[in-house]
Amino acid sequence: MSETRYPGPSGHPGLAAFPPKERWDDWKELDSKAWPQRRERRYLLVPTTCFNCESACGLLAYVDRDTLQVRKLEGNPEHPGSRGRNCAKGPATLNQIHDPERILHPLKREGKRGEGKWKRVSWDEALADIAARIAGSLDRNRPNEVMYHVGRPGEDGYTERVLAAWGVDGHNSHTNICSSSARAGYQFWMGLDRPSPDHAGAELILLISAHLESGHYFNPHAQRVMEAKQRGAKLVVFDVRLSNTATHADHWLAPYPGSEAAILLSIARHLIETKGYDREFVRRFWNWREYLRVCRPGEPETFAGFERALADLYAEYTFEFAAQESGVDAAAIEEVAKLVAKAGTRLSTHTWRSATAGNLGGWQVARCLFLLNALTGAVATPGGTFPNAWNKFVPRPIHTPPHPHTWNDLTWPQEFPLSMNELSFLLPHFLKEGRGTLSVYFSRVYNPVWTNPDGFTWIEQLSDESKVGLHVALTPTWSETAYFADYVLPVGLGSERHDTHSYETHDAQWLGFRQPVLKEARQRLGEKVGDTRHVNPGEVWEENEFWIELSWRIDPDGRRGIRKHFESKANPGAKLTVDEYYAWMFENSVPGLPEKAAAEGLTPLQYMRRNGAFEIRRGTGALHAQEVDRDELQDTVTDDLGRVFTKAPKPASANIVPVPTPDGDAMGRRLAGIDVDGKVLRGFPTPSGRLEFFSRTLHDWGWAEAAIPTYLKSHVHPENLQPGEMPLIPTFRLPVQIHTRSANAKWLDEIAHTNPVWMHPQDAERLGGIRTGDLVRVETRIGHFVVKAWVTEGIRPGVVACSHHMGRWKLDGGPGQRQMMATVALLRDGARQVLTRLRDVTPFASDDPDTSRVWWTDAGVHQNLTFPVQPDPVSGMHCWHQAVRVTKARPGDAHGDVEVDADRAHAAYKDWLQRTRPAREHSPDGTRRPYWLLRPLKPAREVFALPKA
Ligand code: SF4
Repeated sequence: MSETRYPGPSGHPGLAAFPPKERWDDWKELDSKAWPQRRERRYLLVPTTCFNCESACGLLAYVDRDTLQVRKLEGNPEHPGSRGRNCAKGPATLNQIHDPERILHPLKREGKRGEGKWKRVSWDEALADIAARIAGSLDRNRPNEVMYHVGRPGEDGYTERVLAAWGVDGHNSHTNICSSSARAGYQFWMGLDRPSPDHAGAELILLISAHLESGHYFNPHAQRVMEAKQRGAKLVVFDVRLSNTATHADHWLAPYPGSEAAILLSIARHLIETKGYDREFVRRFWNWREYLRVCRPGEPETFAGFERALADLYAEYTFEFAAQESGVDAAAIEEVAKLVAKAGTRLSTHTWRSATAGNLGGWQVARCLFLLNALTGAVATPGGTFPNAWNKFVPRPIHTPPHPHTWNDLTWPQEFPLSMNELSFLLPHFLKEGRGTLSVYFSRVYNPVWTNPDGFTWIEQLSDESKVGLHVALTPTWSETAYFADYVLPVGLGSERHDTHSYETHDAQWLGFRQPVLKEARQRLGEKVGDTRHVNPGEVWEENEFWIELSWRIDPDGRRGIRKHFESKANPGAKLTVDEYYAWMFENSVPGLPEKAAAEGLTPLQYMRRNGAFEIRRGTGALHAQEVDRDELQDTVTDDLGRVFTKAPKPASANIVPVPTPDGDAMGRRLAGIDVDGKVLRGFPTPSGRLEFFSRTLHDWGWAEAAIPTYLKSHVHPENLQPGEMPLIPTFRLPVQIHTRSANAKWLDEIAHTNPVWMHPQDAERLGGIRTGDLVRVETRIGHFVVKAWVTEGIRPGVVACSHHMGRWKLDGGPGQRQMMATVALLRDGARQVLTRLRDVTPFASDDPDTSRVWWTDAGVHQNLTFPVQPDPVSGMHCWHQAVRVTKARPGDAHGDVEVDADRAHAAYKDWLQRTRPAREHSPDGTRRPYWLLRPLKPAREVFALPKA
């Protein structure tokens, strides 16, 4: 039998980049550390999925056959998204596994929250306590007092189903401090909240960074961007800093923060003025008729009329206007506009975080960026940008619990009816002003005290047992939030847990499988292994098993109706096993997998355990232009906007090919597609079935002035700054770090362990001759922090920037990662809250000799503590950019000092709430939120109705 040969990244046919998979059960190679001796080591190679960012790249664990320990992790060549390649954070999973300070056993608080005293307890004790409290909340009919707050999900829907089974609307995420504004921009256009750019096929790649260099799709996108560049494609990057991505750009534009939409609209105007857009695409797939009907009543509903309106709408966005707003030369913008026009349908674009996450109205940046795709017809074309769901696959699970019959106002408050995700970062302010309390709060792979803005208010509320009855931190590593928990429960890393995962890395659909590699290795060697605690370090447990066990304990006799969702189908009445969960999924809801597995003599589960990923289809193409099958068209009605409603049920293939899902008509028909020139095409999952240039949703819910792609002035627009203020950009990542979890990866810490504030030489001079390494004081509107300066021409003048990836801290005498956490003291004096650094990072003795070789002392500065909450009134996204004053440090200031005024922090929260347009006053139909908008863990329809006033 011939062996699988994986060519190297250059495609060189003579060089194999990876071990042939036929030899993964017994792979031999020389031990590099034994050199000059030739010591052969034998490995079992077990695939899994990286858990260090959301890209879900494939990893291959090298399990030593003699010691049954993981000795290294490399790329999995069988993974269609990452194709064997990883960023530095993938292989560094090894450091996390062997971190001498990782949490290995369940811990229970002793003393007060935050005192840093812990005792080891059994899983059994922890489970019994947590289950009893959850059961108590359910029995008191207070389901919304149970909340699960997730940072890095690393899975597609498992835990949402757990919460649905419990009947709680308790899902809370980090998304409103991350990507909600980008999501909003995309969802209002196409009904799906993420883009999937086909970079590899593009002629022009336009990125509103920082994402490529900073972790989001870092590796799968980066490798495809570079492939395109090697072919001759051009790369345009908007970034206020010379980011890693910008260094690779053909055109680097460094606009004033928040002005990105003005530039994009000037490019759109150029396309419209020069008739350089795809008129047929616009005519067929935009909801232009609806725009004319609502916004220009009385005018004839003709496409020619719409084209005149389009030219009129964007006439003011000249290159000169864009230059004035952005500070970028008009000629440079015009040059980019011509490249966009030339690229046509091969224009791939992407934005995530960055400008969308930084600015008030940032969601319009995504909306204006996608306008360029929608104008050029570069939507779901080779080299264009796809709706994400077309390049992603989420399989059906063995049990699907019903939607919860409850609505949680602590996460979905009435002020934000169009919010893309939970108003997670406002939670402590909601608790503070008495909107509710929590009986059980799970923080799971999430660190809001450190990651969120205004962390002192988190500390205040998490310390208050009358507000948060029980805090359970599910975490693989110590975090600033875990210090304020009652239980700290160790959960698995990417090589210690099961999950399925799929991401829109390119035009294909694939499913990745994460697995506990030591369990699989032992099973391949013929051992019978119990749950993951038997193979993971210490008592580290995977969450799949934890949630099943906890759910059984909440409902031991089944009377609460929960247990049935965690029972075996093969052995009714028995506990569901993780093996059965995934075996059922792979056998029943992943098209093509059973056949592919059978061809290799494997079951679908065995196939996934051996390969780690499965490609379901390649090249999904323009699904919106597909004709709807005849058997889906029964008793149809077409309305005057060209929407075709059917009485036929949703096809079984609906989880592969998203079909329009919004509301049906009054006769119970569902939206099946759109009439385009006499044919019924699938269209997009929006209320109109078309791309929504005009969002009727925004219009009807109080935001008529922002219903089309437009330019909204940021809260850091020069008009909104006070004298002496300038914008601080705090949203960029460092390429080799993750938010919290990488502090226990020694290789990554050695590379990146500081976050100086970037400052242009002109500003350094203006501020009194600041030099690199000098301490500066950065004052926000609620406090200040003290940080080192880095004077560089890699940032536009008038703006400063500081990465949010640093400033980790531990409390004196308490646990933590000493290689990357400074030791601090927290002080509170009335409203004045202070974080003072007691000790820098120092070397220390441990089982790992490398910890005594730690040579760095810095751990950066925790700037997020000094940021007030700034929720965008539409998307709900925290607007990260800050208006700051920068001065030389004062006498007595020390690196890492942080001070915040709690009263000003709460006042800022109240100020920003004033910008909202609540459902109570603006809902057009008496509901809390448009039903069609995406919502994780969507509750039952009847609870969408606003409660009686
Ligand atoms: S990009 Fe890096 S951190 Fe993210 S999943 Fe891939 S290897 Fe892991």
